[in-house]
Amino acid sequence: MADKDVDQARYGFSDLVDLPAFERMLEHFYRATGIANGLVSEEGELLIQSGWESACTLFHRMSPESASNCRESNLELIARTRTGVFCGSHCSNGLFDYATPVVIEGQRVATLFLGQLLHESPDMAFFKEQAHRFGFDETAYLASIAHIPVVEKVRVDALMACLVDMAEMLAKSGLARLRQRDMERDLSRQRKRQIQLEDILDSSPVAIGWSNASGKIEYINRCFSSLFGYTLDDLPDLASWYRQAYPDAHYREAVIKPWFSEISRLRSSGLTPPTLEASVTCKDGSTRRVMIHVRWVGDKRLVNFSDITAHWQSEKRNLAHDAMLGMVANGAPLSEILAAIVRQVQSEDEDSLCSVLLLDDEGRHLRRCVAPDLPDWYTRAIDGVEIGPTVGSCGAAAYSGERVIVDDITTHEFWRDHAELARQAGLRACWSEPIISSRGQVLGTFGIYHREPGEPSAEDIERIGFAANLAGIAIENRRTYEELESRAYYDYLTGLANRRFFFMQAENELARVERYGGELSVIMLDLDHFKRINDSYGHKVGDTVLKKLAELCLKVLREVDMVGRIGGEEFAILLPQTDKARALEVAERLRQSITDARMPTVKGVTIQFTASFGVSTLAGRAVALDTLLNEADQALYIAKRGGRNRVEAAVTPAASGSAGKRA
Ligand code: GH3
Ligand code: MG
Ligand code: MG
Repeated sequence: MADKDVDQARYGFSDLVDLPAFERMLEHFYRATGIANGLVSEEGELLIQSGWESACTLFHRMSPESASNCRESNLELIARTRTGVFCGSHCSNGLFDYATPVVIEGQRVATLFLGQLLHESPDMAFFKEQAHRFGFDETAYLASIAHIPVVEKVRVDALMACLVDMAEMLAKSGLARLRQRDMERDLSRQRKRQIQLEDILDSSPVAIGWSNASGKIEYINRCFSSLFGYTLDDLPDLASWYRQAYPDAHYREAVIKPWFSEISRLRSSGLTPPTLEASVTCKDGSTRRVMIHVRWVGDKRLVNFSDITAHWQSEKRNLAHDAMLGMVANGAPLSEILAAIVRQVQSEDEDSLCSVLLLDDEGRHLRRCVAPDLPDWYTRAIDGVEIGPTVGSCGAAAYSGERVIVDDITTHEFWRDHAELARQAGLRACWSEPIISSRGQVLGTFGIYHREPGEPSAEDIERIGFAANLAGIAIENRRTYEELESRAYYDYLTGLANRRFFFMQAENELARVERYGGELSVIMLDLDHFKRINDSYGHKVGDTVLKKLAELCLKVLREVDMVGRIGGEEFAILLPQTDKARALEVAERLRQSITDARMPTVKGVTIQFTASFGVSTLAGRAVALDTLLNEADQALYIAKRGGRNRVEAAVTPAASGSAGKRA
């Protein structure tokens, strides 16, 4: 309603109708009917006038008294047209005048006048008298009265209706035309504004799009296309967007649908719809992590996407980093920790397949491949590969200590010898980062494979660097741990169990025998005249003899036997499930192999050495470890006294079954 008023108020009759043409028409009307006419605007301005009667212009308007009659009659007539209907007046000067408002859509735009006229032949006596009263020239005045048309009232009504209908019809079509023009102007203004808005939005660093009430996506900005790769042609409507952005139907059902319903529900409330954090699948299959904000603007659903991928990945990386440190602290196996790092990197780049290879102690071969998603046969095939300047990506990276990027395995010279293997595993690109220790030593390689040829982006380089660094920390930590552990349990010189570890193991074994029964023997051995070796050849050679002895022990003994260095040149051997006779046999074999050993020194002298042995057996007794070892030690003493390079058995009291407890 308000709109209509404003609309019509903007237009007067002269805006709506071609005024000169309408004037010509009224002129023809005057000539045809002899009835003077006029059109007055709503502001009271005389727009058109045809054939005023000379009775009025030359006489009535000229005398103050009759002119005042004219004015009064006019005012009365105009006042009566306010009622909005055709009306007429018989003026005080004796003539008839008619007026009708021209109305379109309930609004007056002008008033049409017909007159002056008479309905019957004029009463000349009245006009004669009037000529006298107002002082007119009688003859001329009566002639002007005679000129006034005499028209029947019904004809006047019909003529008036005809003119007003015509005026209203023309005004109405004029209004429609103007409205059409305004609408077109509005539309073009709107379009211009929209283009301006789109220009602004295209320069926004935030991805923006909007859809209309029926779900048609009407606009996406440049950032949207560059972030997700989709164009407007790919996304005719919201349903197709959801299908492509969230290909997991379960996720759409469980997360997207309820969120969408909530947004629609909140539309009328004016409340801010909830923000959603989601992973959007891009056109190229990659994933971006975004925060999605929705606003209603009229019936448009305006959505913006803040890209938080980098932040999200660094959060995830921090979590992976913490989890990895946790695994290190909890003593998880290195292979598990490395597999966790591999999985983290693969989750960031879903097309990647990663492997970690460790450099062996010699620094020549890559071993112990951790690659949970590469085929087993492939990892087995590359296990133990010797590194070199052009050996694949990882062999070359380990050799040079530099990152090696092979964008296409099929054509790269580094892969000449392994290209067929990679082809069978469906691998086309391999980027390898050396894993470097805090002291700058190459520990291994972190390799990223792809099934399509390609070079890494800056993001990929950062990712591979992060992974190699993390793997380096894990490997170094594990090595330090192993070293500490080894120091705590093993003898640094011979690699055998140290005294403490030997006793721990021996106690465990004794407890096992005590509980489940079985036999157990110990051998104590001591190098003969070792002091002389040291004195003659030096301490270093003495050390080599100790190492050689350890080597001989391991060669002769079984896997289940335990040997420890319990003193300078004293060794103890625990033989589970071994009776006295078997233990003596073992000691003898060992003695013989020591005697047979020849050890060349750097000075060209070959050293021979011997050892003495004491053997003690549990033989069903329940005795403490110390007792058993003391018995063996005493037997060893006897062997020394007996001339060395011999085996002696301890003299033990006869077995007393299960009687008695350990001391
Ligand atoms: P015996 O046949 O009576 O056992 O004579 P021995 O010389 O072997 O015995 P002794 O106890 O007199 O000397 C042991 C020597 O072993 C003394 C010590 O210098 C040497 N020794 C102990 N530990 C080490 C070691 O780690 N390296 C070297 N090179 N010598 C060691
Ligand atoms: Mg000795
Ligand atoms: Mg000794």
